[in-house]
Amino acid sequence: MSQNILTVSNLSKSYFLNNSELKVLDSVSFTIKESESIAITGPSGSGKSTLMGLCAGLDNPDTGEIHLCGQNISKMNEDQRASLRLSHSSFIFQSFHLMPTLTALENVMVPLELQGNANKETRELTLELLDQVGLKDRHHHFPSQLSGGEQQRVAIARAFINRPKILFADEPTGNLDTHTANNIQSLLFELNQKLSTSLIIVTHDNELAAKADRTLKMKAGKIAE
Ligand code: ADP
Ligand code: MG
Repeated sequence: MSQNILTVSNLSKSYFLNNSELKVLDSVSFTIKESESIAITGPSGSGKSTLMGLCAGLDNPDTGEIHLCGQNISKMNEDQRASLRLSHSSFIFQSFHLMPTLTALENVMVPLELQGNANKETRELTLELLDQVGLKDRHHHFPSQLSGGEQQRVAIARAFINRPKILFADEPTGNLDTHTANNIQSLLFELNQKLSTSLIIVTHDNELAAKADRTLKMKAGKIAE
């Protein structure tokens, strides 16, 4: 029996601007099992990024509950959520969010540094992971010396360095040309399979969505299908 990695129940979230309420998520519920992949599609503004942020523990919902790896993150304070995030989940974004002053190798090691686990042994693991994402000869390059696709590969290696149970990817190939995007997508699904990491990926690309085990279509803050 595979376990639920993420359980989302009746999640709602509103933003308030100029005294008016914008209901961005309206009682959203779904689950993801270990090593399962899910695509989230839907028009711009339908609440996809907000949903991802809540699931990853970047923000708190107004109502509803989120269980990540068996722990109720909707009841946690910011420090507790940050620590769970670092140990169990990872996030990749459309813009790669690399540190410009660090090399590829150093960028991938940032989560290890934060956990106090950066040492000779984990440096070796980092080099292996960089090889796995196809950056064998790019360890010492700075982000400005890498192409967009290579930068996203560094971000992917960084996302996998803590061996997360779940990876949140918010339009990870939105800034890349079609050919590079396809390579990055294949890599994500390959790592999802190989490392049994659950994958939740937001995309406008129907072909990419078709590669996932299931697709959730969002519309105006609800899951439409
Ligand atoms: P999507 O990722 O599907 O494009 P988002 O979750 O980013 O949608 O946004 C959903 C809606 O919430 C949009 O109308 C957006 O303008 C609004 N929104 C997102 N973040 C905030 C915020 N921090 N404050 C106010 N409104 C926000
Ligand atoms: Mg978005």
